[in-house]
Amino acid sequence: MRSTLTHLECTNCGAVYPADRLMTTCPACAKVLYARYDLPAAARTMTREALAARPWDLWRYAELLPVQDIAAAPRLGEGGTPLLPAPALGRLFGLENLLVKDEGRNPTGSFKARGLGMAVARARELGATAVAIPSAGNAAAAMAAYAARAGLPALVAMPKETPATIQAECHAYGARVILVDGLINDAGKVVREGATGRGWFDVSTLKEPYRAEGKKTMGLELVEQLGWRVPDAIVYPTGGGTGIVGMWKAFAELEAMGLIGPKRPKMIVVQAEGCAPLVRAFAAGERHAAPWIDAETAAPGMRVPVAIGDYLILDAVRESGGTALAVSDAELMEGMRLAATHEGLFVAPEAGAAVVAARNLRASGFLGAADEVLVFATGTGLKHADLIRDEAPVIDPRRPGALAALLDGDLDGGRLGRSEA
Ligand SMILES: *Cc1c(COP(=O)(O)O)cnc(C)c1O
Ligand SMILES: [Zn+2]
Repeated sequence: MRSTLTHLECTNCGAVYPADRLMTTCPACAKVLYARYDLPAAARTMTREALAARPWDLWRYAELLPVQDIAAAPRLGEGGTPLLPAPALGRLFGLENLLVKDEGRNPTGSFKARGLGMAVARARELGATAVAIPSAGNAAAAMAAYAARAGLPALVAMPKETPATIQAECHAYGARVILVDGLINDAGKVVREGATGRGWFDVSTLKEPYRAEGKKTMGLELVEQLGWRVPDAIVYPTGGGTGIVGMWKAFAELEAMGLIGPKRPKMIVVQAEGCAPLVRAFAAGERHAAPWIDAETAAPGMRVPVAIGDYLILDAVRESGGTALAVSDAELMEGMRLAATHEGLFVAPEAGAAVVAARNLRASGFLGAADEVLVFATGTGLKHADLIRDEAPVIDPRRPGALAALLDGDLDGGRLGRSEA
C-alpha cells in the first residue's frame, strides 16, 4: 500500500517532468501539470478486496496518491464522508434517486481539506518550509489548519468580504492573514508579487499538481460507495474547478485499473449568476473562459472570476454530456433552506446552489426522473449563519402563558410552529 507516482505531465503540451521536486505549473507553457502513476502496479494492490480492509479516510487510496510517506503526512481525518440518500428533496424535485455527498464533515468544514491536506503534505515532503494561498475563504482555512498540523508557517490572502467565521478560523490556526481589497485573483496577484519569491510555496488552485490529487479522492470514494459504479450525473458548485477536474481524472484512472467501465456521469457545473465565466464559455462553445468582470455572489467559493483549469473543466463537462448552469443568489439560499428543512443538512451557499440546480435541471428535463443524481454538498452552512436571517420571538419567562399563546396562534394557522420551506 504505497504511492505509485511516476512523473508529472503537462495537460496542455504533454511535456514530462520528474515528480521528485517542488513544481508549480508547466515550465514550458504555464498550464496545469498532472501527477501520473504506474496504474498497472496500482491495480495489483489497490483491489476491491484490499480496500475493504482499509480505514475509511482518503489515505485508503495510497497507490493513487502522490504522498510517499503517509505516516509523516499532516492528517486530521479528511475524506470518508457519507453519501446520503435525499428522498424528501428527491420527492420535491421529482428525482427518484437523489444522493448528497456531505463534504461539510471534513476537517475545517469543507472539501477543501482533501486538496489542501494533500498539497501541504506533498509540499513539505518535497522541502517547502512555508506555504501561502490566495483564497476565497475555505481553502485558506484548510491550508492554515494543515500547515499548523505540519508545523509550517502559513500565509493566507483573501478578499476582505470573506465571511468573518472563515477569517477567524485562519487566525485561530495561527496563519498570517492578509485581507485584499479585491477578489481571489487579486489575492493571487498579491501572493505572487509579495511572497513566492520570499520562500512561501504557493498552493493556489491547479497551480501546483497535488491539490487536484486530494480532490480526486471524491471521485474514488463515491465510486466505491456506489459499489464500483458511477452515478448518472454529478452536480457540482464550481469555482476554480479542482473538484470536477480531480474527479474526472479519478474516473480515468479507475477505468485504466479495471475497477470501473467506460460509463461516465454527466458532469454538471453550477455557478452563480453574478459570477459564471464557465457557464458563459460553455454556452458559447469555447474551451477557455474569459474573466468575469465585477463578480458578485453570496457564495464565496463561487466568486472566482478566472480559472486556470478552464479547459480541463469544460472538456470534462462536454465529454461527459454534462452541462453548465447558473443560479441566482436567491435560489442558492433557497437551496440551503430546502436541504436543511427537508433533509437536516445545513449546507454552505455553494452547496445550496447545487441543490437548486438539480431541481432546475429536472424541471427543464435535462435530468430524468429515474436518473441517479449526486449533488455535492461541498461545505457546511455553519460558517454562513449570517445568511439565515430568521428572527426568533423573545419570551419573558416571568409572563406565564406567553409561549402557549404563541403556539396556539400557530395552531390556528395550522402550521404547528414549523415555518414554511
Ligand atoms: C472552493 C469551494 C467550491 C468550489 O470548488 P472548486 O473545486 O474550486 O471549483 C465550492 N464549494 C465550497 C464550499 C468551496 O469552498
Ligand atoms: Zn506544458
